[in-house]
Amino acid sequence: MTATNNKTRLLVHGVSGRMGQALLRLARERDDMEVVAAVSRAQPGQRVVDGVPQFSAKELHGVPAFDVAIDFSLPAGLATILGLCTQRRAALVSGTTGIDDALRAQMKEASAHLPILWAANFSLGVAVLSELVERAAAALPGWDCDIVESHHVHKLDAPSGTALALGASAEQGGATPRYASVRAGDIVGEHLVQFTGLGERVELNHRATDRDVFARGALHAAARLPGRPPGLYRLRDLLS
Ligand code: NAD
Repeated sequence: MTATNNKTRLLVHGVSGRMGQALLRLARERDDMEVVAAVSRAQPGQRVVDGVPQFSAKELHGVPAFDVAIDFSLPAGLATILGLCTQRRAALVSGTTGIDDALRAQMKEASAHLPILWAANFSLGVAVLSELVERAAAALPGWDCDIVESHHVHKLDAPSGTALALGASAEQGGATPRYASVRAGDIVGEHLVQFTGLGERVELNHRATDRDVFARGALHAAARLPGRPPGLYRLRDLLS
């Protein structure tokens, strides 16, 4: 940490979005961090809101010094903030989903120079679900594995990043998952992983009812990532 008042200096990227707003509100409740820049795609209506300087994506390179950026935007936004964090040697926490192999490779490359944590889901419950899915898949060879994810109508990518991460856990256990997506109303995020055998079915379900769980997880990670050696981190590496 390099801030003089011992607070972690935070940049929030994608601040006008649903997650950005939750991050800003919850960061304000913490006394170990200070939001020094809030960045949205469009030109901000006001230069300073509640003491936080606002910037547009075009002005990104003019933001003040920061220790860690939290990004919940779109893949193009993640690519841009990754570039800035690399240039400034600042840490990066991102939950942006829908990213492709090329962007994944860029993150891997950048992680030689800075600590990066990307997670498809920042909730503790999903971290546990992921372990249960792998165990169930290993214990139920030959069963059908289906992942059904449901989200609000504004979500752009499908299947969700969380569904794909749960699918990777199922594959680790030897299953071959299939995916189905539901886009309806204001659903925050639901994931059902279903194992079906002959005459029986196991259902593992997670429901997020409040997106604050993701924002809290991301802030928790952002408080712990700066100052760590360069590399790619997982949420569970920073849980304690
Ligand atoms: P949203 O549409 O409400 O907000 C997206 C924000 O990103 C907007 O403020 C937009 O202006 C900004 N943005 C888009 N492109 C940008 C760019 N090029 N540069 C700067 N800013 C840019 O979306 P949301 O619901 O807040 O979700 C954002 C992302 O986070 C999505 O990919 C979503 O799937 C993901 N998400 C992840 C988790 C998790 O736990 N990992 C949880 C919820 C949402």
